[in-house]
Amino acid sequence: MSREFHASAAHPGGLPHGLVDVSVTCPDVFVDLAYCRPDNVFGRALYRCNRALLLGATAAKLSAAAVDARAHGYALLVLDAYRPLGIQRLMWDLLPDDDFVAPPSRGSLHNRGAAVDVTLATPDGTALQMPSDYDEFSPRASHRYTDAPPELCGRRARLLAIMEGAGFASYHAEWWHYTDREHTDRALLDVDPCEATHESRKVHRS
Ligand SMILES: [Zn+2]
Repeated sequence: MSREFHASAAHPGGLPHGLVDVSVTCPDVFVDLAYCRPDNVFGRALYRCNRALLLGATAAKLSAAAVDARAHGYALLVLDAYRPLGIQRLMWDLLPDDDFVAPPSRGSLHNRGAAVDVTLATPDGTALQMPSDYDEFSPRASHRYTDAPPELCGRRARLLAIMEGAGFASYHAEWWHYTDREHTDRALLDVDPCEATHESRKVHRS
């Protein structure tokens, strides 16, 4: 038996490299990947399918965060999760500025399945307004930005408390970006989320 098989057996919906499908392991979490649509900062759709993958341990933290969010009357909505290295290269080609995009030589925790971009939503999955849009590279995206309606700043702080409470680290410049710092030494992965499959998925689907 391979290590991958063990990882899959431990996490329903397990996929190669310890990745899992968020909609299988975190059924209370909504997924609406922004890079599936052309109206993102890159001006074109980069993903072929709306399928969010994370490392199993990171997905477990997201599930814990979703429980806390629900206790406060919210749901979590995932906007980006695991990002294939090939897509990171494409992003760098389109926007070669490391203020905005991690160079593919260094990679990002997104490329390791250990970062998630997330916002608060209503219990039926409708995204709630925050002090800035997702991927808005402006001062409004910062946790330190206070010149927004108190309701929106309060929502951003609630998301921060929920995610940090579940073991994620925040990034000061992007209110949506949360990382699971236990996996910084993991390899950069280039798995196609639309193609990734494993025998255990068939077992758990039946
Ligand atoms: Zn991110």
